[in-house]
Amino acid sequence: MNFKITLLPGDGIGPEVVGEAVRVLEKVASKYNHDFNFQERLMGGCSIDKYGKSITDETLADCQASDSVLLGAVGGPKWDDPNAKDRPERGLLALRKGLGVFANLRPVKVHPALIDASPLKPEKLKGVDIIVVRELTGGLYFGQPKTREMVAGKERAVDTLEYYDYEIKRVVELAFQLAKGRRKKVTSVDKANILESSRMWRQIASNIGKANPDIELEHTLVDTAAMRLITAPAWMDVVVTENMFGDILTDEASVLAGSMGMLPSASLGQATVGLYEPIHGSAPDIAGKGIANPIGTILSSAMMLRHSFKLEVEATAIEAAVDAAITDGVRSADLGGALTTRQMADEIINRL
Ligand code: NAD
Repeated sequence: MNFKITLLPGDGIGPEVVGEAVRVLEKVASKYNHDFNFQERLMGGCSIDKYGKSITDETLADCQASDSVLLGAVGGPKWDDPNAKDRPERGLLALRKGLGVFANLRPVKVHPALIDASPLKPEKLKGVDIIVVRELTGGLYFGQPKTREMVAGKERAVDTLEYYDYEIKRVVELAFQLAKGRRKKVTSVDKANILESSRMWRQIASNIGKANPDIELEHTLVDTAAMRLITAPAWMDVVVTENMFGDILTDEASVLAGSMGMLPSASLGQATVGLYEPIHGSAPDIAGKGIANPIGTILSSAMMLRHSFKLEVEATAIEAAVDAAITDGVRSADLGGALTTRQMADEIINRL
């Protein structure tokens, strides 16, 4: 099969890890007889430097016209000035909006050989296999009004937590779809004891639950979910939640796996162009040293094969190669080893 993939390596370690994921995809292409056509574009700080904008209209149009997008990471101290007229993260928000990706999927699995890298007790980590589905384009991060003003001599700041029913419905339905191929359990996380938007969320989730009797649906308050993610993470399977709760819970969940460098993500919408990226940032502290762990990006490319291209066998092959490498003791610096980014990818490619 033939697919067009736009690469947005971005800043810091982004180009280092994306380059290795491309080598893995090329191996998959030759082994399984596919044609992956890569086109590379600038996004983030590097695009600000070259074009004065974190993402240009042309780059966005190229992404929209491809079959999927693989992103490294954006940002870094060079572009951190809060008064700057554009920032790398703005490009990311524009990209998500432009692609219409409303659900961010973050799987968290703990490899048995890496249990000691996690701060949690080993017995708590047995059987952890979670996928968090975070609503990505609504809620507190986007609701209007969003203002800061002086009121009777006192400064006042306002953010708005706003959801339309359709925004909740589509992301919860996606979570149920995912649950069908897994342990058939959805945990819907809200704050329905306090928030009106959460009461609507819970009601919509319940209705979807009734229409899918083969899936077990459980409602959990976000404070309880945050606690149980640490005290009993194996209890969760598919977790679905609104934007800000998801932002916080996914970072908490990433700690379970031991290193940020291990975890992939997929952002999906109704359109077919998905956005795939590791959960970590541009890691300026190690950028240019060639020691970043490429696994988060390599596993993101596996998610691309599964969700955008429906190449399940190939996706599973990449995941199995990563698993085997970790089992065999293949380790980059963040996992307590000494292998370079390139050597890590070589070990994975050799096992494909
Ligand atoms: P970070 O994820 O870049 O780094 C946190 C720590 O994890 C660092 O010590 C880093 O060296 C380490 N780390 C991250 N990825 C690694 C990998 N693949 N292998 C080995 N170690 C790895 O987070 P930060 O330091 O808070 O942010 C740095 C920059 O990245 C900031 O400008 C931030 O805005 C940006 N950022 C971008 C994204 C994105 O592009 N989606 C996400 C988060 C942060």
